[in-house]
Amino acid sequence: MDFGLKGKVAVITGGSSGIGLETARMMLSAGARVAICGRSGDRLDEARRDLEAGFGAANLLAMTCDVLDIDQVGQFRDSVRDLFGGTDILVNNAGRAGRGSFDETSDDAWREELDLKFFSIIHPTRAFLPMLEASDAGAIVCVNALLSQKPEPHMVATSAARAGVLNLAKSLAREFAPKGIRVNSILLGLIESGQWRRRYETEGPEGVSRDDWLAGFARARNIPLGRMGKPEEPAAAIVFLASPLSSYTTGGLIDVSGGQAQYV
Ligand code: NDP
Repeated sequence: MDFGLKGKVAVITGGSSGIGLETARMMLSAGARVAICGRSGDRLDEARRDLEAGFGAANLLAMTCDVLDIDQVGQFRDSVRDLFGGTDILVNNAGRAGRGSFDETSDDAWREELDLKFFSIIHPTRAFLPMLEASDAGAIVCVNALLSQKPEPHMVATSAARAGVLNLAKSLAREFAPKGIRVNSILLGLIESGQWRRRYETEGPEGVSRDDWLAGFARARNIPLGRMGKPEEPAAAIVFLASPLSSYTTGGLIDVSGGQAQYV
């Protein structure tokens, strides 16, 4: 299927693992040129080798960059511009989950969470905006969570921050529509990714395999589709929202939660 992505430039923050890495793979296989970033050089090198093995090096830029550091985001933007000459797609994916009830969450933890969720979108969006505006197919996709609409008591700060950035994406969609840039979100449930692999390594009980441990989470959450999602499932939704296939959709969202959303 032609996604209309041949030759387009897609920037994926947090593209060195999990959902971002699968999105990079799907974008490359659709013919896009892809730039990924992450903080860990080792993780990024591993992702670069993996992607180069499948697609070669010519259409790939992998660069260390912390999206919370405005100077590093500027350097990443400059490198993308120098190598590819522009940007058509920005996927704001970098991040992680924060856990804690209201009682357990200190003011510093609140600030850290709000900072991460908001500025991981604000910094890249501001930096790449002029190139997105110059594109004839500008699109931003924000990777968000079902928590934005269905808060969980053990993830109070993350849930509130996610509700805020869902609102932000709607504002950006209205403001950028006259510039020809679409802005959409995906809302994730539980997706098996690097975060979960690392959590199993530290929290997984003795004698229980990772698959069984993950299946236990899916059962405990009563996920209607009966399992956690695979990173390629949200990646497909991201690619759709980033591509001209969704050219008349902005300010929208796709739920990728296995049926966990209980609203109409
Ligand atoms: P992974 O841990 O597998 O991937 C996260 C990616 O983001 C890594 O490449 C990581 O690299 C990068 N990253 C994290 N912080 C920064 C930063 N400050 N600057 C640049 N890169 C950063 O997790 P997922 O694929 O699961 O997560 C992708 C997104 O989906 C995240 O925003 C996450 O919060 C969200 N999400 C995931 C859910 C799930 O169940 N998996 C559920 C709901 C939301 P590095 O650490 O080297 O910087």
